[in-house]
Amino acid sequence: MKKAIYTLALVGALYSCKTTQTQKEEQPVIASIDLVNVEEDKVSVSIDPDRFTTENTTFYIPKTVPGTYSTDNYGKFIENFKAIDYDGNELEFEKIDDNSWSIPNAKNLDKVSYQVNDTYDIEGEEGVFSPSGTNIEAGENFMLNLHGFVGYFENEKEEAYRLLVKRPHSLIPGTALSKTVAASTSMEFKEDIYSLDRYFEVIDNPIMYAKPDTTSFMVEGMEVLINVYSPNEKYTSESIKPGIEEMISAQKRFLGEVDNTGKYAILLYLSDSETQDARGFGALEHHTSTVVVLPEAMQPEQLQKTMTDVVSHEFFHILTPLNVHSKEVHYFDYNDPKMSQHLWMYEGVTEYFANLFQINQGLIEKQDFYDRISGKIKSAQQFDDTMPFTEMSKNILEEPYKESYYNVY
Ligand SMILES: [Zn+2]
Repeated sequence: MKKAIYTLALVGALYSCKTTQTQKEEQPVIASIDLVNVEEDKVSVSIDPDRFTTENTTFYIPKTVPGTYSTDNYGKFIENFKAIDYDGNELEFEKIDDNSWSIPNAKNLDKVSYQVNDTYDIEGEEGVFSPSGTNIEAGENFMLNLHGFVGYFENEKEEAYRLLVKRPHSLIPGTALSKTVAASTSMEFKEDIYSLDRYFEVIDNPIMYAKPDTTSFMVEGMEVLINVYSPNEKYTSESIKPGIEEMISAQKRFLGEVDNTGKYAILLYLSDSETQDARGFGALEHHTSTVVVLPEAMQPEQLQKTMTDVVSHEFFHILTPLNVHSKEVHYFDYNDPKMSQHLWMYEGVTEYFANLFQINQGLIEKQDFYDRISGKIKSAQQFDDTMPFTEMSKNILEEPYKESYYNVY
């Protein structure tokens, strides 16, 4: 993760993280998302698992996701939850907390359904960092950070998922995922189908639905996709492509054989400063993509510089924590997360490389590099220097440790 501190005069910058594994032959969990029939700014979702053999089950929406290092309670944005049996009748359930619903009669449970509210149009976004947040704007834009839309059942995180997204013809998906379009496609809508090996892959693959504005290029065997949503059409994917291409090419040269990513998607959401919109600027990392949120009001040079700092940081996260990480990250518990002792490595080392490669590859001048490093030394002095980084990392979700989060950058 990296956050970008932005004012009209000055642009600093910031970022975030995530993991992978096995698959099974059984009936996948079918997650259906309806982007056509949006009611009161809410999206209807249903999650249909295989038949339960247990007496009861619990359905979860994540409390936190990898890379954000914060407790966000995505279940708070869920309404009108229903558990439905095989005859279409509603079953009893008990809401345990913001993010969990206990269903006693699991053997009769066919599916659950609910409606999702988005975070971008809420003042303060309930503390959710925009690159991990959600947007619902019918016919215009949907930011599907899927942890906000799709949940999982107890002990079923390793089950395969099939994601069905019903969408208007005018909006196309930006994502690193491959899809097929269902045969049931009609005049009113299309249905995209995505297959995912486990729940982790669901949340590792954000999808941004928007009017077509997409471009791509190849760098040493890697396909880079750029998708841009610019509400007032100030920027296009073509307009930001040259800067991104220069930066990613330099990163690939710097990394050499260390990186073998085949496809990488950059999903850029530019927020409107005139309306209630996303205000948490920066980006969150995934294995094959990143969601970047920045102000549309940025000037082109500022935007390019910030994109370079932010996207290169996210891309370097492929090294750590995405591939080198502790067991707490690998077996991430979305509703009872155990933090590892290595936040300082995941974010600090990543941020160091994101600056080092720029001087190494000639993207910035020597003086600029020295200024950046001395800026970091200066900002480090605002934090408690006696707090061990390992201890802070382990307890980053709690006070007083969470106050020191930015020290790792
Ligand atoms: Zn980061």
